[in-house]
Amino acid sequence: MSKDERALKRASNIEKTLKALTVQREIPKFTIIFLVLIYIGGSILTAMAGGSQDVLMINDKPLPIATFAGVFSSLGNMCVILMVVYYKKLGFITSMILLGTQIPGFYMNVIRGGNYTSIPGLFAGLLTIIASIIIFLNNRQIEKYQKRVNEQAVTDRLTGLPNRFAVSELIKKLIKQNRKFAVVTININNFRSINETMGMDTGNLVLIETSKRWRDIANSGETGTIDFIGRVGGDEFSLIVRGYPSPNELMRTIGFYVAALEEKITADDCDFYITASFGSAEFPTDADNYDSLISCTVAAMNEVKRAKSSEHVMLFTPEMLKVEHTLEIEREIRAALENDTIFFNLQPQYDMTHKLRGFETLARMKNSEGRIISPAEFIPVAEKVGLIDKVDSTVFRKSAEFFGDLIKKTGSDITLSVNVSVRHLMKNGFLDELRDIIKQTGIPTNQLEIEITESIMIDSYEKALNCIGEVKNMGIKIAIDDFGTGYSSLSYLYKFPADLLKVDKSFIDQMNSGESSKRYVASIISIGHIMGFDVISEGVEEPDQLETLRSIGCDYIQGFIWGRPLPQDEAERLVEMKSA
Ligand code: C2E
Ligand code: MG
Ligand code: MG
Repeated sequence: MSKDERALKRASNIEKTLKALTVQREIPKFTIIFLVLIYIGGSILTAMAGGSQDVLMINDKPLPIATFAGVFSSLGNMCVILMVVYYKKLGFITSMILLGTQIPGFYMNVIRGGNYTSIPGLFAGLLTIIASIIIFLNNRQIEKYQKRVNEQAVTDRLTGLPNRFAVSELIKKLIKQNRKFAVVTININNFRSINETMGMDTGNLVLIETSKRWRDIANSGETGTIDFIGRVGGDEFSLIVRGYPSPNELMRTIGFYVAALEEKITADDCDFYITASFGSAEFPTDADNYDSLISCTVAAMNEVKRAKSSEHVMLFTPEMLKVEHTLEIEREIRAALENDTIFFNLQPQYDMTHKLRGFETLARMKNSEGRIISPAEFIPVAEKVGLIDKVDSTVFRKSAEFFGDLIKKTGSDITLSVNVSVRHLMKNGFLDELRDIIKQTGIPTNQLEIEITESIMIDSYEKALNCIGEVKNMGIKIAIDDFGTGYSSLSYLYKFPADLLKVDKSFIDQMNSGESSKRYVASIISIGHIMGFDVISEGVEEPDQLETLRSIGCDYIQGFIWGRPLPQDEAERLVEMKSA
């Protein structure tokens, strides 16, 4: 265990922990002994050299040993200055004592003995004393200033609690120690309304009082654990708990901080009854790095807010991150709709002779950082949170506009296939929207196809049939997407007025793994044909899959083998090439 770690372990309340965090790396005190020894050695050598009459011969030139006295004396003075610089007060006192011990020698030598050759040494000693005093006083000023800067760097100005930096430093240090600890993110509920109705000053008083109560608990040691609390943002705090044997004790500790708010807070002659949401996560159980650990605590804290129960505290569980991710994607979808960053790609569909049948339009979304998010990720979220009709409409309108122009330009007879979610299709305004898109874009209805998943045959079958009947009356084709993955019964399928059956990629992936898988796809194709539908296979990647599909009578294919989803300009080039 390092010195820093030992210091952190000993520190049990906020101030001590903060001090342990900000403490500067110091040279161990005992090493001053080496400097003292060198100084004494230097003084002895100075005296010996000074009194020597001997001469050294260098290149036949005489060099009196006495001239070395100055070198040894400077060595001693250098030791004195180093002591003052590196050992602060201790160094200063030691050096003053050492220099002081020379005074009787000088007295005996110069005043009593009349040996004036020591006078230059006396001046050198005096100058060293002056230099030491100047360095010492200057160092003290700098140290004071440094201490203040250090304190400011780790303290929140408003509440006096440790700030975000201090909290993050402590967490990172504890992670390095690799011992169990918990971080609790705390957010005051409805704090914004205090600020809005009573003004910022009153809001600040509430924060100050809350901080005081929590600081007192952390410092009192009454929780039985080692607690550290800091303010990390507006109404957000972070509590770090160490030394709890089990989750029960952790909950007990957090309970103290919850209870601290039970008593009303009076600010500006108004009484406030505030509550807070506490989300806790543990290192290393829930996360083993700083960022993930904080995300876990925030997810747990958000869960408390969402739950809206009387529960104030939640310990992190992995399910909470899924909810967070969904919320994040929801935010991205809303932003993409607002900023118009939803666009489409077109994936070609071919008949078995490689003749272009048309394209399926596939949604793409750019998030706030410009990263493209897969529809497999955002479409299910859009469905869940009721944004799918907006996403569908955007993709539908944009691609129909592009396709309408393309058909006018090339005269091509290809089809545009558009995915429409069941939820969207069942909305009352769907048919009007469809008519509007057709009118606005001029896309011929017989070159338009709507893809619906077979779940439509399970939910509200009758209503769906009416709607689809209307769509068919407009001359639009209907495709059943991802066929085989749902639970549709043959009797429903029989009555369903579709034109195209899309065999899901999962069957194509398996198809050549055995005779029975191949027969399975063959029978889906036969059933489709018996019902009067054309059949297209999705996700064809390999030449042997293509061969098999040809041999079992598939009509069309869509897959990477002949074309990935393309941006508009590439799709346009493909059409121009094929119709040339
Ligand atoms: P889907 O309608 O079944 O579309 C086919 C998906 O399979 C596309 O994925 C396509 O890129 C992918 N794919 C096609 N061929 C291959 C292949 O050979 N190999 C592989 N590995 N994949 C292939 P994408 O674009 O990620 O779309 C995923 C799903 O998102 C779509 O599945 C569809 O259900 C949904 N989706 C896409 N756009 C929209 C939209 O505008 N509205 C609605 N409601 N759903 C959409
Ligand atoms: Mg589709
Ligand atoms: Mg599909």
